[in-house]
Amino acid sequence: MKGLITDIQRFSLHDGPGIRTTVFFKGCNLNCAWCHNPETINPKPELLYYESQCLGCLHCIPVCPAGAQRAVDGQHRFERDRCIACGRCAAVCYPGAAVLAGREVSAQAVLEEILQDRAYYQRSGGGVTLSGGEVLVQKDFAREILALCREQGVPTAIETNLCATWEDLQTVLPLTDLLLLDVKHWDAAEHRRWTGADNRLIHENLRHLAQVQVPLIIRTPVIPGVNDSEPVIARIAECLAGLPNLLYYELLRFNPLGENKYRALGRENPFQGAAWLPEATMECLARAAEGYGIRVKRD
Ligand code: SF4
Ligand code: SF4
Repeated sequence: MKGLITDIQRFSLHDGPGIRTTVFFKGCNLNCAWCHNPETINPKPELLYYESQCLGCLHCIPVCPAGAQRAVDGQHRFERDRCIACGRCAAVCYPGAAVLAGREVSAQAVLEEILQDRAYYQRSGGGVTLSGGEVLVQKDFAREILALCREQGVPTAIETNLCATWEDLQTVLPLTDLLLLDVKHWDAAEHRRWTGADNRLIHENLRHLAQVQVPLIIRTPVIPGVNDSEPVIARIAECLAGLPNLLYYELLRFNPLGENKYRALGRENPFQGAAWLPEATMECLARAAEGYGIRVKRD
């Protein structure tokens, strides 16, 4: 079957152990205000337009069937409202100002790309990680990729926000060697406020996961003004402490470098201009979590 992805990143070092290939699914059921991959949220293809990279060559104008790429007084202009995300302009835009996010690929084609780095997985203890977006939004596609990887002996991992029914999660769990989970806030109202979604399913799934054998890495993206306080992180750590299959809890420092993508998508960035969190803050939060007897890492 086919699914929609934004990218396949080879030689990834941050999405599980060893050298990995990370497949980014397109479409997410949350809408986190700080998302640093905002092009993965919308479940349909969309065009990113990086105005500062446009050379004004006008090659995109004759290929655009929607009149979204235009020339006004000889100057290039992109009109997003007209764009139907066909990707034709991206194919002729050599400076990379127009980039299509979202391509339909078959599970078999994804596997072929994954297998190119098989030797590196074997030497480094790596494998493939399905990420997003949210993998479980395309659970049947994910299941097929995982099954193909299993047949080929490629270790598998999934990165998920866990905001899915237990039944949906079970469609992929038997084919998954490692689960990377994001827990952003334990408080229900705060979770809804910052992600747009309820966290009841996340809590329920964590209880179920305590009963299965799959190893877990649980991560919290630490975001200024959202969850960068000791009580918030301590509450999460307290709830994770009872998980027998938790390998470690990881605190991911807020990364303000996604700003360009928001501009390129024509979206407002709620965290525009936000600064990196100080090292001292990250250290305090890590200590607060360690107080619950779990292994804590931070990037
Ligand atoms: S093809 Fe690319 S660089 Fe050339 S005018 Fe169009 S968007 Fe700009
Ligand atoms: S993606 Fe298609 S419709 Fe949109 S600007 Fe490019 S060529 Fe035009």
